[in-house]
Formats: sequence, structure tokens, C-alpha cells
Amino acid sequence: MPSVLRIALPVPLPTLFDYLPPATGAAAVGSRVLVPFGRSKAVGVVVQADVPAHVGSAKLKRVLRVLDDAPLLDAELMQTLAWAADYWLGAPGEAYANALPLLLREDKALPETQEPIWQLTIAGLSALDAGSRRGGSRALLQALHGGPMSVMELDAALPDWRAAARRLADAGLIERGMPSLTPDFTPSAPPPALHPEQAAAVSAVADAFGRFQPFLLDGITGSGKTEVYLALIERTLAQGRQALLLVPEIGLAPQTVRRLRERLGVPVDVLHSNLAEGERARAWLRMRSGETKVVLGTRSAVFTPLPQAGLIIVDEEHDGAYKQQEGFRYHARDLALLRGRALQVPVLLGSATPSLESLANAEAGRYHALHLRSRPAATHAPQVQIIDMRAQRLDHGLSPALLHAVGDAVARGEQVLVFRNRRGYAPVLLCHSCGWHAECPRCEHPLTLHAAWRKLVCHHCDMQTAVPSTCPACGSQELKAQGQGTERLEEALTTHFPQIPVLRIDRETTRRRDAFEQLLGHLSTDAPAILVGTQMLAKGHDLPNLTLVAIVGVDEGLLSVDFRAGERLAQLVVQVAGRAGRARKPGRVLLQTHHPDHPLLHTLLAQGYAAAAQALLAERRQTGLPPHGHQVLLRCEAHQRAAVDAFLSDACAALPVTDTLQIAGPMPAPMPLRAGRQRGQLLIESTSRRDLHAAVRPWSMHLAQLPSARKVRWSLDVDPIDL
Ligand code: ADP
Ligand code: ZN
Ligand code: ZN
Repeated sequence: MPSVLRIALPVPLPTLFDYLPPATGAAAVGSRVLVPFGRSKAVGVVVQADVPAHVGSAKLKRVLRVLDDAPLLDAELMQTLAWAADYWLGAPGEAYANALPLLLREDKALPETQEPIWQLTIAGLSALDAGSRRGGSRALLQALHGGPMSVMELDAALPDWRAAARRLADAGLIERGMPSLTPDFTPSAPPPALHPEQAAAVSAVADAFGRFQPFLLDGITGSGKTEVYLALIERTLAQGRQALLLVPEIGLAPQTVRRLRERLGVPVDVLHSNLAEGERARAWLRMRSGETKVVLGTRSAVFTPLPQAGLIIVDEEHDGAYKQQEGFRYHARDLALLRGRALQVPVLLGSATPSLESLANAEAGRYHALHLRSRPAATHAPQVQIIDMRAQRLDHGLSPALLHAVGDAVARGEQVLVFRNRRGYAPVLLCHSCGWHAECPRCEHPLTLHAAWRKLVCHHCDMQTAVPSTCPACGSQELKAQGQGTERLEEALTTHFPQIPVLRIDRETTRRRDAFEQLLGHLSTDAPAILVGTQMLAKGHDLPNLTLVAIVGVDEGLLSVDFRAGERLAQLVVQVAGRAGRARKPGRVLLQTHHPDHPLLHTLLAQGYAAAAQALLAERRQTGLPPHGHQVLLRCEAHQRAAVDAFLSDACAALPVTDTLQIAGPMPAPMPLRAGRQRGQLLIESTSRRDLHAAVRPWSMHLAQLPSARKVRWSLDVDPIDL
């Protein structure tokens, strides 16, 4: 057998691919190579070198070219990715592709870690003074007279600058340079003295530097968790090591980046999906080279190389945004733990509302629990009150008591947050005469009315149609908007409080990059205002004048069949409530519900999140649900229901019969139809993760070979977070 390279290619197949080594040059494990694939070419990553081939050499193709002299992915990342692909049953190629910024998955030279700049030479300055150039050349000289500019800045300012740059560079009037690495800011005021609980948390984690130890920092909102992160990152830097800080959303990033930069006085790189591709690749490479020591990022930043790793922090560890819901379905928190173990560094998970998974791990002693129980800066945790909506006259869903409280707060010059986790004007458009309601034909779900757009929109498949003027079923004109979304609440509150600015914050009003920051930036800290928004408002950004939080419409969460709905609801209520009373003014939270006696709400409000979480954990223990049981979900969709049924029944039959596995289904998915596709699923559960993986691993290979698999789209989800 010839010796080959085993290569991961970015395709959704559960295998690696064998190639003969390149004609020239050597390809090391972790390097990228260009290979012939099908009728075209692909960039892959060498996973194993010098291994005997599985097939005869006649069929083997040769690597065309080695793209990296030295491995791009180091031994730790290669090892972690192999574990991750095995754990989440992902296609190995997709796991490796996830780890690389898009630009590094292409057949191109690596970008420089610093974006090159263009600057005037002395000769250029004289030429400008002498007025010797015209047109585009002169414009470029003038632009650079203000100081060096990056390619990105030039692209934005002078779209046709490249030709001029070539002429001017040839004439020696401008030159390319590298920006200086020193950050252009000065460290801010000294940090606050840590209070005793913060200090205890910092020293516990710092004591674990140099070895793997997970910590759960369980601290109420505003208790100073971020200060703990900052103090620990400072200590990491003092040892010459790197720190990775994960946050669930970019919305949280700008304020935190500012805080990090001001405190640490070193460059901080940011990695998230809204970044330009070049910037993303450069930041990734700067961490790889050790040029930067601190990176803040969202989910995929968990793959950042950390050759000098010192510490990994996962903020808001309970957040569902850490789970990737397509392709390679990893969970960034769990992957961070895998990396911490491989790198031998502590991993700090922080939250005011820890996931039940992490609480169970802390209880079992696998995580070291740290608590922050008080708010520093003399702020008080807000008072929470329930408003019983039953038999109340509602105004666009708002009760008199709630409107009254809003009126009082704005009269005092304070700010109010009205929280509703539904965008649009109303979730249903109903005919009052015949009962018809507008439904998406591709999903069989009600369409959401968006009044400003005059559209009905499906929130599941994005289908849009015009709002009918009469009922399509009976011709009546009595079409009524049922229920409330943020758009309707904005309208109702504007009508009620015409003098007060009402600001809506949801996915529609924050479509542009930075829009979230800008909207909140306009908010003066000493004038009254009303914010209406979805869960985007649940976190980030401190609003010192915000004293009242009104939560409307949480009842869906109480009634949902999803076993995680209660946990999510408790987390959301606590997080949203935490926005109130961040400064010295006392905060108040009102929760409007038709179910004031619901046990979960009761426990949550009377005894707090920890008690509610204990109650939910006890339920999960009784029912054998995660974290007391483990799940793998097989999802399947196709245009024909019969194809879905055939595949799922073949898949089910192929499962080994053992008494360690419980199988639920095949059954329709919670949304049996979506975007015109029939959907079904098969849930496999076990109390033993080891047994579950042992059974499912070989089964997943077998699934790809089932003839009925060819007529469907299917995927496996290990530890699914929504069923
Ligand atoms: P969390 O991340 O838990 O929500 P933060 O770290 O943002 O909390 O802290 C909340 C507020 O309290 C911030 O304004 C922060 O500057 C302040 N703070 C935190 N720790 C201290 C401290 N030890 N002394 C004084 N103020 C503090
Ligand atoms: Zn009708
Ligand atoms: Zn739809």
C-alpha cells in the first residue's frame, strides 16, 4: 500500500479523503493543501500524514500544492477538532472548515496580520505642494496628506484609488507601510477595589492557572462578573499568556471591547460574523502568532488559535446562541471546555442564570462553583411584582396598572423598558366574521402582521405577502390584528405618552451594523424615555436612568411543550429584570400574566433563580431529561412526507436493540411543515452518555448508506437544545 495524506475537505460527508503526497514539498499535519476534487479543486487540511492507503494506488489522486510551509492549525487545535467532530458526530471536514475564517479556506496566500497602509513619501509631499499632479493621483495625494490610510479606508473614500496608487508608487511619491502595533489609547482610571466575593473568585481561578479546571461564576446581574473577568485577564497578561473571552452576541461586544481596551492597555482583537472577512482572518492570525494576547468573540471565536493560552472565559454561558444550529452542530461552551482540557488552562463560565447543565456539573463537583451574591456600588436588586391580567381591560395588551406605573416613572424623569419577545405588529390577523386567519402556505403557521411595511410575514420561512383589505374566505372587512408585537406596543405607548420618546429595539430597527449601539447612544441619561424591545434588550448596555422594567407576554413560555421552556423563561425574566436599577435609583419590575399562580413564576419571584433552577432540575431528574439524561436527535426533511417516513423508519430499524437506549419516534417535528418541506424526527435517549455515543457513532455512518437517505435531507444533533 502506498503511503498517503488523509485530508479533511469541506463537504458534509462523514469521512476523510486519501491523497498521494504532492510531487514537490512536504505537507505537515495541520497544513492546508489544494487537491483535485470531483471536477474541480478544493482546499483541505492534512489530518494525518504518511499513513497506509485504504484503497489501491490506481484510484488515488495527488495533492496539487501545499499552501502552508508551517501548519496553520497547531497540534492542540487538530486534536480538539478531532474530538469535537467525534463528539458532535459532525462531518470532520465541516469541523475543520468551521475552525478557519472564510478567507483562510481559499486557495490564496495568507493575508498579512496587519492591514497594510499607504502613506506619502517626502517626495510625495513636495509634489503635492508643487501641485504637480491632477485627477485621481492628486485626490489620492490629498487624501494621504491627512495621514496614512488602510486599504479598507481607501476603498471607502476613493473607489478608484488603485490605479493612481500604482502610478504614484512607481514615481516614488507614496509607499506601502505597516501600521504600528502600539494601541492608540491610554489606560483609564485604576480599577475599583474588588469586594471580598470578587477577590475570592479571582484568586480561586488564578490558583488554577497552568492546569485544567472548570469554574462556574454564578453572580446576580450587576454583581461585578465583568470586573472579575478583567482582573483575571490582567493576571493572564502579566504571565505573558493569552486570554479568550466568549460572549453570545455582537450586541454585547462594543461596550465590553471598550472596557477591555481601557483597562488592559493592550490591543484587543474582536472576532464575530459581522466583521469584514479580511479583518477576521487577520485577527485570527494575530492570535496565532501571539501578536495579540486578548480576543473577544462570539461562537466561532472558540476556534481561535491560542499558542500561549492562559485562560478561557465564557460569559452568559447559559445562552442558546452558543449552539450552532446547522452544519457542524457544536456548542461553543462545551468546546471551550474541551480546549481548556487540551491546553491545560482554567475555563471560567459566568452567568446570572446558569444553565441547568452547568448547575448540575457544579453540584456533582465537576465544576468549582463561585458566587457573587451582592451588587457593588450600592445598587439594589429590583423588586419584582406580578400583575394579574385576568378580567382586566387591556389596552393593546397593556393593563391599567402597568400603564400607570409607566406614567409615574416617566413623570419622575426616569426611563422604562417594556419587554415583549415578539417582533412585528401582531402575531395573527383574524377575520372577525368567519374565523379565517392568515397562514403561511409553506409552514401552516400564522403570518405576523407588520403594519409599517403593510405586509404579512412568515417568521419561519420569511415569506411575505400584502395585507388583504377584505377576508379572502368570506369577503368581510372585519379583519382584526390579534395579539401584540413590539411594533404595536410602540404605537400604543406613543399614543399614551405623546411627550415621551419611545424607542423600539428589535431585529428590524437594528438591521444595520452598530445600529443597536447608535440607538442606545442617542438615549440621554437624564431624560425620560420608553424602550420597547425583544430579548436584544435583555443584556449589555448599562442604562443608569432605567428604573422600571415591564415584562408583557411571558405566558407562551409557561404553556410551551418544550421541556426547556421553563428554564428559558426563568433566565429571560431574571436577565430582563436585571436591567432595572443599575445605578443608585431603586428598580422595579412588573410581570404581566394570565397565570399568576404558576408554580415556576411563584418560585422564581419569591425565592429567586437558584430556587427555580433547583425545582426545574428536580423535574428533569424525575423525567430523565437532560442534564440527567442524554439525547441525540435525528432530523429529516423532504418535499414528500413518504420519503421522510421511509428514511426515519429505516434509520430506526438500523438502531441496535439494547435496554440502555430509549427511542422516541419516528414522529413529526414540532413544526411538521416548514418552507414547504415535510419534517420528521427520531429522538434517541440514554442515561449513559457513553452508551449513547457507542450506539450512535456506528449508526451515523450507516445512515449515509441507506438508499432512503438519498431522497431526504437529514442531520444529527448531539445534545440538541430545541427539539
Ligand atoms: P456584571 O458583569 O455581573 O453584570 P459588572 O462587572 O458590569 O457586572 O458590574 C456592574 C457595575 O458595578 C459596573 O458599573 C461596575 O463598574 C461596578 N462594579 C463592579 N465591581 C465593582 C467594585 N468592586 N467596586 C465598585 N464598583 C464595581
Ligand atoms: Zn372571513
Ligand atoms: Zn412560512
